[in-house]
Amino acid sequence: LHVVHVAVEMAPICKVGGLGDVVTSLGRAVQDQGHQVEVILPRYDFFQASPLLGGTSYETEFDYGGTKVFVTTCMVEGLRCFFIEPRNGMFSGAVYQGNNDAGRFDFFSRAALEFLLRSGRQPDILHCHDWSTADVAKAYWTEYQSYGLWKPNVVFTIHNMDFGATKLGEAAHHSQRFTTVSPSYAFEIGGHPAIAPNAGKLWGVRNGIDIDIWDPETDIFLPRGYTPDTVVEGKAAAREELRKRVNLNGWGDKPMVGVVSRLTKQKGTHLIAHSVFRTIDRGGQFVLLGSAPDPKIQGEFDALKNSYGGQDAAFCFAYDEPLSHLIYAACDIILVPSMFEPCGLTQLIAMRYGAIPVVRQTGGLKDTVFDVDNDKSRAAWELEGSTDWVADNVDATNGFSFEGTDDGALDYALNRALDAYYNDRAWFHSLQKRVMLQDWSWNKPAHDYIELYYAALKS
Ligand code: ADP
Repeated sequence: LHVVHVAVEMAPICKVGGLGDVVTSLGRAVQDQGHQVEVILPRYDFFQASPLLGGTSYETEFDYGGTKVFVTTCMVEGLRCFFIEPRNGMFSGAVYQGNNDAGRFDFFSRAALEFLLRSGRQPDILHCHDWSTADVAKAYWTEYQSYGLWKPNVVFTIHNMDFGATKLGEAAHHSQRFTTVSPSYAFEIGGHPAIAPNAGKLWGVRNGIDIDIWDPETDIFLPRGYTPDTVVEGKAAAREELRKRVNLNGWGDKPMVGVVSRLTKQKGTHLIAHSVFRTIDRGGQFVLLGSAPDPKIQGEFDALKNSYGGQDAAFCFAYDEPLSHLIYAACDIILVPSMFEPCGLTQLIAMRYGAIPVVRQTGGLKDTVFDVDNDKSRAAWELEGSTDWVADNVDATNGFSFEGTDDGALDYALNRALDAYYNDRAWFHSLQKRVMLQDWSWNKPAHDYIELYYAALKS
């Protein structure tokens, strides 16, 4: 297959959130299966200062909509990328800028199609992402298909239904297949008025994590690497390093509970705040790494820091990739109490580092975290393909979960996780080892996407 992604984010050169990660890691995983994958992106001005974009070379130029457009190319993370550069300053500044974004990205989407057409490329699949490149799907079927020169099939992925519902609905209508990033989120959005008319074309394929980037054995941000067999020692070393780094002290054997998150209502900030109280109340230590809060939420967390910050709770308000690695490694428990979560990567990274996830049962969290007390048969079926976990003695459960949105609901899961830590340390360590051995890479999802691409071709 020849697959061309059209996107406005790509890790690590222009990543804002999960979308950027998916373009790179899905692209690589599909390419590794022997397919040809290319990516078309805007050429942001901030690329000029980026050491990641060394060998960029000229590809072509053309006039589009009265604007001169240059196209340059280079390899990023092993993927061939093309950069669309309108010579009118449209892509100076940040990826997202607010009000003008629809105009900027619609222009980009159409210029990307124009480039494909002029270059003579005939990809089998055009894969576009979220509202920002939704116009690719619409424009291809309403305008470009009439050229009759190439007939790629359009696949469209919704990473977050919260933005641009009208555009998402149009793209859903004009694509052969569209996806979202977990089966449960697909179920949750299937009834949305923008989606419902086309829900028959919707697939839920969960995201994976890049297991080369997230590898506790080789992670350069940890004081020592560790494997499932050395998780106890590895985490103890990471914990000491983290305690020094964020000024936590006191008795070293306290359970460490952590949150790594954008601080927005979506992420359950009110429950994060409650979990600080509960963790300390139960004799544990808490660490928060939180970014991009709006002033109101920041104020709430500043107040929390004033009441609880000290030897048992640390608050870091920043986007800090290296520190996030250390936190995943140091923590016994990682909390993800989201109000909604299309897929969620934090719980997957946590498991890879042997931190037990405590999550709210929503979207992708529900598809990836199986409660040790309540989900044994679901876990055995989903993760082991076993229909009889008792007979097979399969236990693939991997965390603690809760349903509601209030403090009591969170307590139900967090208290059980802390009880497990305090009451049966050997069992807790065996659970850590088990979650580390589960496969949350792109291997399986990449196969699902390839199957979907073939399904789109046949439709
Ligand atoms: P979303 O894309 O909605 O923010 P995901 O769980 O899909 O949520 O992805 C979050 C990613 O961003 C994870 O890789 C997580 O480690 C990272 N992340 C979130 N907040 C921070 C932060 N403050 N510092 C460093 N990394 C962060």
